[in-house]
Amino acid sequence: MREFRALWAAELLSVAGDQLARVGLAVLVYRHTNSAGWTALTYALTFLPALLGGVLLSPLADRFPRRELMIGSDLARAVIAGGMALPGLPLPVLLPLVFLLTLGGAPFKAAQQALLPTILEGDRYVTGLSLRTVSNQFAQVAGFLGGGALLVVLDPHVALGLNAVTFVVAAVVVATRVRHRPVPSAPQSHPRDTGTVRMLWADRRLRALVALSWTVGIFTIPEGLAAPYADTLGAAAIGVGLLMAADPAGSIVGAWLVPRLPQDRRAEMTSWLAVASGVPLVLCFFQPPLVVVVLLWAISGACATAYLILAQAAFVVGVPDHRRGAAAGLAGAGVLSSQGVAVLAAGVLADATDPVLAVATGGVAGVALTGLSGVSWLRARSRRELSPERTGGREPDDAEKHGELTSPCSSSKAPPPADGDDESDVKASDQAIGQSTEITSPCSSSFAPPPAGTAAEHGNGAADQVVFARSAQPASLSTGERSRAPWRWALWDEPARVLALILFVEAAAIGVTAFLAGHSVVDRNAMVTLGIIVFLGVTMGELSRHVERVRRRFNDTPHVNLTSVWTFSAALVLPPVLTPVVICLLYIHLFWRSWYRVRGVRPYRLVFTASTVVLSAHTAWTIRHLFAPESLGAWDQPLVVVAVAVAVVAYSCVNSGLVACAITLHEKRLDIRRALGTGKENALEYGTLGLGAITGLLISFNPLWAVMIVPALLVLHRSVLMRQLEEAASTDQKTGLANATSWTNLATAEIQRAARDESQVGVLMVDLDHFKAVNDAHGHLVGDQVLQAVADVLAASARRYDVVGRWGGEEFVVLCPEVTSEALRAIAERMCERVRELRVPTEGGAVIDGLSVSIGIALYPEFGPELQDVLLAADDALFVAKDSGRNQVQSIVAAIGDLNGH
Ligand code: GH3
Ligand code: MG
Ligand code: MG
Repeated sequence: MREFRALWAAELLSVAGDQLARVGLAVLVYRHTNSAGWTALTYALTFLPALLGGVLLSPLADRFPRRELMIGSDLARAVIAGGMALPGLPLPVLLPLVFLLTLGGAPFKAAQQALLPTILEGDRYVTGLSLRTVSNQFAQVAGFLGGGALLVVLDPHVALGLNAVTFVVAAVVVATRVRHRPVPSAPQSHPRDTGTVRMLWADRRLRALVALSWTVGIFTIPEGLAAPYADTLGAAAIGVGLLMAADPAGSIVGAWLVPRLPQDRRAEMTSWLAVASGVPLVLCFFQPPLVVVVLLWAISGACATAYLILAQAAFVVGVPDHRRGAAAGLAGAGVLSSQGVAVLAAGVLADATDPVLAVATGGVAGVALTGLSGVSWLRARSRRELSPERTGGREPDDAEKHGELTSPCSSSKAPPPADGDDESDVKASDQAIGQSTEITSPCSSSFAPPPAGTAAEHGNGAADQVVFARSAQPASLSTGERSRAPWRWALWDEPARVLALILFVEAAAIGVTAFLAGHSVVDRNAMVTLGIIVFLGVTMGELSRHVERVRRRFNDTPHVNLTSVWTFSAALVLPPVLTPVVICLLYIHLFWRSWYRVRGVRPYRLVFTASTVVLSAHTAWTIRHLFAPESLGAWDQPLVVVAVAVAVVAYSCVNSGLVACAITLHEKRLDIRRALGTGKENALEYGTLGLGAITGLLISFNPLWAVMIVPALLVLHRSVLMRQLEEAASTDQKTGLANATSWTNLATAEIQRAARDESQVGVLMVDLDHFKAVNDAHGHLVGDQVLQAVADVLAASARRYDVVGRWGGEEFVVLCPEVTSEALRAIAERMCERVRELRVPTEGGAVIDGLSVSIGIALYPEFGPELQDVLLAADDALFVAKDSGRNQVQSIVAAIGDLNGH
């Protein structure tokens, strides 16, 4: 492959030249200034512009012929490097030149990366990438070592001059060996002016791959912490060297391995390798000896490099050709930044705790993040493979649905291409490109709403396929489908007062956490406890996932759920700065695995809920702390027991209080039941919090005890679902009354009991008068509100043990056990009276009044031995009531008497 050879050689030359120049520069600047700070700054200057250039200059690779851009960039860099070689340049001139030199590398790199898949097709492309990685690793080492050696004999100026020569040679190689290709043109359906970021954002496949690539920064943590880590092992300088070499050595092996992986399984292995990169780092937690650590780091480096190559290959191939330059530049810049951020964060953590823990924590984060994006990628991939034609229209809408909250990693699904050079694979990737084009271009506007089968498609078994018609969602909280783009979040549709509350609570959660961070001592034990709580919480979430998905369809009280066990125990036993970590991780997991795509679960509501939980947890911690600051470990003192009990109450009050505020503000009226949740929900919440307290106690004794809680929780969770299912099956959704079936069952049982006790049972049949007129005048929605109001009035007018049911339409039935005929009539009259007084305010401001009902009454056993007979009698009586002018109570005996009187 002549062209590839040329590109490869050019790149190698540039890399080696750059390394040589870095060393030369370092020596030169240090000689000039005698300052480590300036030397470090110069070194940093060679990275920062790579980042900037990746974002700003890479798009050039989509605007100009790529070969020519590479030549131009090399020549420009040759000139700059030549200028730097001039003796006697002052620092203020030298530093900007360094900056420019690195900046100039960006378009070269972008063009080269965009060109590669054109030159190398299919499997060759992956092989080429692997080869490049191996040789780049070598070139970097060689550049450093060779640079060092050369500088012993050469003047730094000469080294810089050599660098200029490498650029010229590279330019010549590209000019003579690589063919000219025109600028790839954008297909009609894919206008050039949609930004690259938007394009990546809108395509879940690409998003998953970007997320995977950017996570790679975590796996550079060991390299960054090698020296302090070696120190904790008591190893000498040679140990540092071994540790530092472990990762690059592993990388070389990983890159070498990639083309040898079976082609048809590469896409899948991307995810597995990604997760596998984190595992060895987690194992460092057990403080193995130096040799083992070196081995572990090498394995981690091998897996990380292998998966990065696969992910990048899939990414570049997945991007349409006319955008590859910009996309590759952006992805590369992200990788670079993620490395910086990860190493920095790990450094801070290592300072606060110790390097071993920092590496292990990085490993856990790596496993979690790559696990999230890796699984999404696999899922979307297999889904798209199963149904390519369906997904074109469907995929984006669920991307949008669950989009608002998520970080790049927890989102994103995406299917294949990129691996394999046989025809079908190439075709598959072409198809994938076509699809991505099709999806991204209109920039996600109109898509059909998800059909009812969405959940079933998730493969969660029979339970999920039940489709429940539920209309109790606050209407504006689920306004159809929308884009993921921040400015189109459903959040902004909230009324200003709700928005203010939401943002205030979120800011408060962050602020209080930051404040309490000052009171926190994060030590090794705390991190271990954190890990165990999160692990148990996530395990529990996984085990109860299906139950929770079904449960959530009935219940829109998101703050009542069993995670309180973990969040509350975390509040008791963890330093307050770590509790929000538990809360965030558990809620992200819950959302992603259990609530995702369940109707009405909106990410911004979830973020709000999580913030209220954070505030509740901080309240609980504060109370616990105020009561007994000294005796944090002493659970046996009465004062601590009281403190924990008060903390339970405070936690629950803060939590429900804030949620109640939001609901009240949203609906502009106070509905206590809806705002604070039903008694049963609160009982569940308190039960869970109690378990949380016990879990906290067990954890502080020995975290392993907490494992015992999991089975109990699972059983509890399941029984909660059973209760909700029973309730849903026996209640009428519109009015909340018993439905006809459950009313009939209760009435039959009641009549049997009355037969034994020889008591009387009364039945009322209630029908709204001229209800059709209400519907006609105000519409069905208002009609429904009236129905609901009448149902409430009937329920309120009945005795405590009477059962009011909705018989159907605007007809109700009331079962009155142990009643005399006078008492029954009195109940019926009371109902008539109260409905007459009823005034129903409507959304439009109008008030509906003048309602009335007709009621027929009948008694068991007077009218027959069966429920059927009594119902018929009541219905006859109702008929009489309607006939006699409505708005009255009738019974047949009275009616017959009336008729006889005529
Ligand atoms: P009357 O009983 O006094 O003879 O007059 P009516 O207008 O109530 O007549 P009827 O009982 O025959 O009609 C019932 C009407 O109730 C018909 C239908 O439009 C309306 N209806 C039934 N179920 C519902 C419902 O669930 N929601 C709404 N909004 N209207 C309903
Ligand atoms: Mg009627
Ligand atoms: Mg009717």
